[in-house]
Amino acid sequence: MRKNHLRNNIRRRHALAGIESMTRLWSNPESEEVAHNAGTTLIAIARRNRVRIPRRIRMRICRTCKKALNSTNSKTRIKMKCVVVSCLDCGRVHRYYGGV
Ligand SMILES: [Zn+2]
Repeated sequence: MRKNHLRNNIRRRHALAGIESMTRLWSNPESEEVAHNAGTTLIAIARRNRVRIPRRIRMRICRTCKKALNSTNSKTRIKMKCVVVSCLDCGRVHRYYGGV
């Protein structure tokens, strides 16, 4: 049981390193296709290994179209004490409650 726990720790550390390198590709990409693939892989790694994507990245990625959200392709509003970020490309709405 103990051994398994340690193995999981190592696996998660590797997953985080993978997420980190994918983030580098995703944030300054050579083309749109590279950015899209990096975003897809980043989310897939996090889901498969059950690790959380760091908040600074999580809040900037659209989970439907995997694009980086910025001021040109998203809309940020505050409604009922909640930060609402809408993706203008696919229409997905991300809501962040409290302590953001
Ligand atoms: Zn989107």
